[in-house]
Amino acid sequence: MATINEHYMKLAAGYLFPEIGRRVNEFVKANPGIKVIRMGIGDVTQPLTPTVVKAFHEGVDEMSKADTFKGYGPEQGYDFLREAIAEHAYRSRGVDIPADDIFISDGSKCDTGNIQEIFGSDNKIAICDPVYPVYADTTVMSGKTGKIQANGYYEGIIYMPCTAENHFIPALPAESPDLIFLCYPNNPTGAVATREELKKWVEYARENRSIILFDAAYEAFIRDESIPRSIYEIDGAKEVAIEFRSLSKTAGFTGTRLAYTVIPAELMAFDAEDNPVQVKKLWNRRHTTKFNGVSYPVQKAAAAIFTPEGKKEVQQIIDYYMENASIMKKSLSETGFTVYGGENAPYIWVKTPNGMKSWEFFDKLLNEANVVGTPGSGFGPSGEGYFRFSAFANRENVIEAMERIRNL
Ligand SMILES: *Cc1c(COP(=O)(O)O)cnc(C)c1O
Repeated sequence: MATINEHYMKLAAGYLFPEIGRRVNEFVKANPGIKVIRMGIGDVTQPLTPTVVKAFHEGVDEMSKADTFKGYGPEQGYDFLREAIAEHAYRSRGVDIPADDIFISDGSKCDTGNIQEIFGSDNKIAICDPVYPVYADTTVMSGKTGKIQANGYYEGIIYMPCTAENHFIPALPAESPDLIFLCYPNNPTGAVATREELKKWVEYARENRSIILFDAAYEAFIRDESIPRSIYEIDGAKEVAIEFRSLSKTAGFTGTRLAYTVIPAELMAFDAEDNPVQVKKLWNRRHTTKFNGVSYPVQKAAAAIFTPEGKKEVQQIIDYYMENASIMKKSLSETGFTVYGGENAPYIWVKTPNGMKSWEFFDKLLNEANVVGTPGSGFGPSGEGYFRFSAFANRENVIEAMERIRNL
């Protein structure tokens, strides 16, 4: 008899975005002809840039000829891409990450979830609340938790509430976690962590022999030069942190798929006898066993964002989205909302008016303004009473959506 992984049965009903999709589809079906503006899911709208597309095409052409055709590539990614990342994403910012510590993958969603399987199932995980739902859900799937409780928290996870009161940066947990998920710039709150704050976390991890799983998917949106883009800008972080980065939001790769994970050679976890084991070695074993690499044309396209022309184009797109964010922030504040984020992140986090529940506000906005956002409560119990707008829509729609909200 085939049995199931019982941990899956603990998952709370429905992943957030399918539920949003369901409600929007229902509305669209009932109201044909009404233009709905989507600022909900964190997906980009601007196309791949010309330099990226050119490299992508060249990659495909190479695949079409016998003498340049490529079969399986290195599972960890081609050297040309790993070297380009080491140079342009790190060394140029004063951070020395050898190309060999960089693992190319098809997404940070997969990596932040998959990373859990190289750590013991008795590890205690600390997760911010609210946050990107993948961390908690994959922690449940991997069997590290008990059941969900009445307060919306899974038993066994150390939750770190992030609210306006603590400026969306959690306090150091009282219990000692073994793995700590941090995401800055943050999805959904749009908050960033200063150098001082990250230093505090790195010191904490060093003292507790814990590992920080640092999701830097939005580092490219940081405008304030004093905010670190990488956790490795903090001294001592290499011994205690894994960094996840993705081209999804940075360069419009949500449908093209390319991300990378940095696991410094210095990073150790411990076996049952307390002997240090190189985490990179375990991840390499997992990656080479369960993954066969990202397609060659995609890696070629990805490397193009690190050329001078590519950098310029990608920066223009980021500037475009951040201009959206600033229009939204201004308009929503003028409309009377309490607004957070949107300065170094493509997300605006607003307090719902008159203490409305997040989903209540979602329905009101959908029905009365025909604008889709994301209910804050979908990111965790502390997100209740908040609402997320993403800045990834096109300008015309951003302006129209803001006008509709103003006229509510
Ligand atoms: C969008 C996003 C990612 C990127 O995921 P991919 O699988 O690389 O597309 C990672 N982390 C967070 C917090 C995100 O919002």
